[in-house]
Amino acid sequence: MSTFLLEVVTPERKVYAQDVNMVIVKGISGELGILPNHIPLVTPLKIAPIIIKKGNATELIAVNGGFMEVRKEKVVILAESAEFPGDIDVERARAAKERAEQRLGAKQDEVDFRRAELSLQRAMNRLDTASKK
Ligand code: ATP
Repeated sequence: MSTFLLEVVTPERKVYAQDVNMVIVKGISGELGILPNHIPLVTPLKIAPIIIKKGNATELIAVNGGFMEVRKEKVVILAESAEFPGDIDVERARAAKERAEQRLGAKQDEVDFRRAELSLQRAMNRLDTASKK
């Protein structure tokens, strides 16, 4: 089975760089499965797990605030943050979810709803990803 190089990079570090068979991502206009020799493209990604297929193994990475660039020689995912299921602090994500929900329920003018909504999405993405480890 043929492969391509997949890199997942955050401002802090390179989280992943391996030859893989397929990556499935949630682009803003829907789910995309990328196989070797895919045509070049760039798309923003939703706050969601990416699914990596490598041999018989499937890996997940919780990606937040990302873009995917499919190039001829490799696929690069650039994200604000990216965590493997085992690296996710579930208690921290639960606390973040609770804080965001409280802010969204507060109905106060000073609450930045978009910010709370994004924080909720990040926390739910982490909880979802961690539950699948
Ligand atoms: P919090 O309110 O708990 O800080 P957040 O969604 O605001 O959550 P981010 O700004 O997305 O956090 O991430 C900041 C850094 O902390 C990133 O490096 C990210 O990978 C890491 N991080 C955030 N939440 C978790 C978590 N639950 N488990 C592991 N790492 C986390």
